[in-house]
Amino acid sequence: MSGSDHHEHSHGEESTLTDIQKRVKALESILVSKGLVERAAIDQIIEHFENKVGPHIGARVVARAWVDEAFKHELLEDATKAINRQPDFPDIGQHLIAIENNESFHNIVVCTLCSCYPWDVLGLPPVWYKSAPYRSRIVSDPRSVLREFGLELSETKKIRVWDSTAETRYLVIPQRPAFSKAKSESELAKCVTRDSMIGTGEVLPPAENNVNG
Ligand code: FE
Repeated sequence: MSGSDHHEHSHGEESTLTDIQKRVKALESILVSKGLVERAAIDQIIEHFENKVGPHIGARVVARAWVDEAFKHELLEDATKAINRQPDFPDIGQHLIAIENNESFHNIVVCTLCSCYPWDVLGLPPVWYKSAPYRSRIVSDPRSVLREFGLELSETKKIRVWDSTAETRYLVIPQRPAFSKAKSESELAKCVTRDSMIGTGEVLPPAENNVNG
């Protein structure tokens, strides 16, 4: 989460808070003083969205699919069931469909209607995902939009755009990068970016990843 949308809980200098943070703080104080919510409950919700859900969950799912063929097979068949069967992944409440990039196809996720997004595995959606230009242009001219994201696809690669709904969310399984030496699942997870799981970005190349070990 970026600093600007971080829910400020410390009682520091008012002047360092943005307008939205001040508004949130004022609203929270009113709700607490009226006995409508408890601070501990708010803290728990924030902790949930900061640590329990987020792209780090999706990254682990992708990394496991890269190293475990059986899991990948299950994931492509029924992503919700496959993830919920793994004891070390948090439960997925949404109907999730995993789609795999390969040499022939590149997949992109959008919600043309509003902002449906796989919160369970990617956390809170980025602002651009909810913007009208992304929602319309990714369908009409995906190649140009990807280029603006810095992703240049070969002309021979076909693009598939998946439109999310309230019932169905999508998770892109990006192609596994080629590494000179074997990498563990947790090392591979570090290469999986949020945008690579939406289809608007690439996984981190091995060289970059090597910096962190
Ligand atoms: Fe939506």
